[in-house]
Amino acid sequence: MTAPGSLHARHRAVMPEWLSLYYREPLELTHGEGRHVWDTEGRRYLDFFGGILTTMTAHALPEVTKAVAEQAGRILHTSTLYLDRHMVELAERVAALSGIPDARVFFTTSGTEANDAALLLATTYRRSNQILAMRNSYHGRSFSSIGITGNASWSPTSLSPLQTLYVHGGVRTRGPYAHLSDERFTRACVADLEDMLGQTHGNVAALIAEPVQGVGGFTAPPDGLYAAFRDVLAPRGILWISDEVQTGWGRTGDHFWGWQAHAENGPPDVLTFAKGIGNGMAIGGVVARAEIMNCLDANSISTFGGSPVTMAAGLANLTHLLEHDLQGNARRVGGLLIERLRAVTAGLPAVREVRGRGLMIAIELAEPDGSPSPRAASLALELARERGLLIGKGGREADVLRIAPPLSLTIAEAEEGATILAEVLRQVRDTPG
Ligand code: PLP
Repeated sequence: MTAPGSLHARHRAVMPEWLSLYYREPLELTHGEGRHVWDTEGRRYLDFFGGILTTMTAHALPEVTKAVAEQAGRILHTSTLYLDRHMVELAERVAALSGIPDARVFFTTSGTEANDAALLLATTYRRSNQILAMRNSYHGRSFSSIGITGNASWSPTSLSPLQTLYVHGGVRTRGPYAHLSDERFTRACVADLEDMLGQTHGNVAALIAEPVQGVGGFTAPPDGLYAAFRDVLAPRGILWISDEVQTGWGRTGDHFWGWQAHAENGPPDVLTFAKGIGNGMAIGGVVARAEIMNCLDANSISTFGGSPVTMAAGLANLTHLLEHDLQGNARRVGGLLIERLRAVTAGLPAVREVRGRGLMIAIELAEPDGSPSPRAASLALELARERGLLIGKGGREADVLRIAPPLSLTIAEAEEGATILAEVLRQVRDTPG
């Protein structure tokens, strides 16, 4: 029951219904430090969701706070009509890191806008409004990114201006593909892709894919699947757009970008990023070869994309990430965490699978009959919160717990979180549906 006059009641009265909140009694956070956040009652939580994969390095990272305060004290906003030192420097760093030759960078204020820009570039460059997207994908909430989001529960409208064809290759943990080996699954998905291409009118602009599906429940394709797709797409000139909004900046541990796990055919043609780079400040962007980036022939600026305060934050955050090898930390601590989670949840019937790479880890939950369990996931979220741990939820059936802490997570914190999750999942087992 929501208390009349409470912030929650006021939220419900004035915000859209579809802007859903986590928790029966939604949390109001006041501040954070390192991997922890505090609520208005002074309770401390270990943040295993890193905001929403936005707090990449740490909460209240001193270098970022200082960079923001200094820039805010000088000037809050100029515009992309003028030069800005931080913006150029961040673009240089991102271009060099992207792996894309002759790269150009365009900054936006979100992942959605970054994907919008990528779609604008790909459709203009290829003179086609046909896009291939993966089933179970999520790419944002603008009209065009909704049009390429492959799950109706995340797409409030089907009236997309794009013609989208949905490709297999995302979800495999359930359904007709579940029992196939990686090789047979890959062959089936490639055959599906070729079949799709046979059904299109004229040329297709691009395929957009998340290297690991984020909102879709941290599901990764088998090694070699995207490379096999590119063997089909590249000879036809179809561009590859890698949506790195969740997988970028070393989150997956082994690689700086998710595409590098599928690098047989080189870097993508277009890469989009957002979330972690600003450590919570609103930065998104798109990287593409100059030839693609420069195909637009009218001015197309973003008023707030590349804003000086966000650029200063991004630069300080990226510098910290690289100097402290947080990708290496994600690999090491993430590796231990996933092992630990597998050990402590072994034999628990509610746990269908623990999977992940680096600090992008999922626990998929099931009912005793093996069907997806959104009930168990919601319950686990509440129970974890009661024990001082914040986690995320996701998956096609909302049956997946998502774990994506700041990349500076310590081994002790990983142990603490795993112990809490084991208690939570035992309690979920003992709570009848
Ligand atoms: N792409 C992916 C892979 C995402 O996970 C998200 C958000 O969760 C987006 C794009 C949209 O980003 P934003 O919410 O910053 O617009």
